[in-house]
Amino acid sequence: MSHRQFSGKKLVVASHNMGKVREIRDLLLEYGVEPISAGELGLPEPIEDGATFIANAEIKSLAAARASGEIALSDDSGFAVEALKGDPGIYSARWAGPTKDFSVAMALVKEKLDETGAFAAGDLKASFFCALSLAWPDGHTETFEGRIDGRFNWPPRGDNGFGYDPVFTPTGHDLTFAEMQPEDKLAINHRADAFRQLIDACFAKA
Ligand code: IMP
Repeated sequence: MSHRQFSGKKLVVASHNMGKVREIRDLLLEYGVEPISAGELGLPEPIEDGATFIANAEIKSLAAARASGEIALSDDSGFAVEALKGDPGIYSARWAGPTKDFSVAMALVKEKLDETGAFAAGDLKASFFCALSLAWPDGHTETFEGRIDGRFNWPPRGDNGFGYDPVFTPTGHDLTFAEMQPEDKLAINHRADAFRQLIDACFAKA
């Protein structure tokens, strides 16, 4: 399958989430790309009514590409707990409520794992997923999905990162994402996994 190549230097990062924008900027650094965030450009946030991470990523990248006239990159990601049938999943941001308080969202996951008996049973498998979508103003998209597996841990630990990082311990590690150094998290996480696929497909080697 042939993929459309990214050309140029300017790239709009279609996100208003500063944690994500920071990680995407860091990932793009070595490719000589200058990312501008949708927030900085004052672009409106589209309604994310897709049923999957990939569908929502495409809604966001296309909206930003069409509104700015530039190539745009979006990230739709979230935390999925196996015993909760993949919840909070695409609703990961919404579980934090209007004040975006992730201590509330993390406590809600624990509450639901208690209700189902999964926490007591040690059934704690969890993953992060990330769909990255590159969109052109003419409506073409290239979209890739990455993941990292691990487990839910309670209570939350660590102050780095954002979102559900304090309750996620990746397989093969003892530290949560929020206890790891940002560069260590970035080397292994779901966003880096999707990013590797995107780079292989759409960014010509220098
Ligand atoms: P989105 O902006 O609709 O994609 O919301 C995704 C939500 O998933 C974010 O607000 C975070 O709470 C969560 N999330 C995504 N990636 C990460 C991560 O790397 N660490 C922690 N939480 C994340």
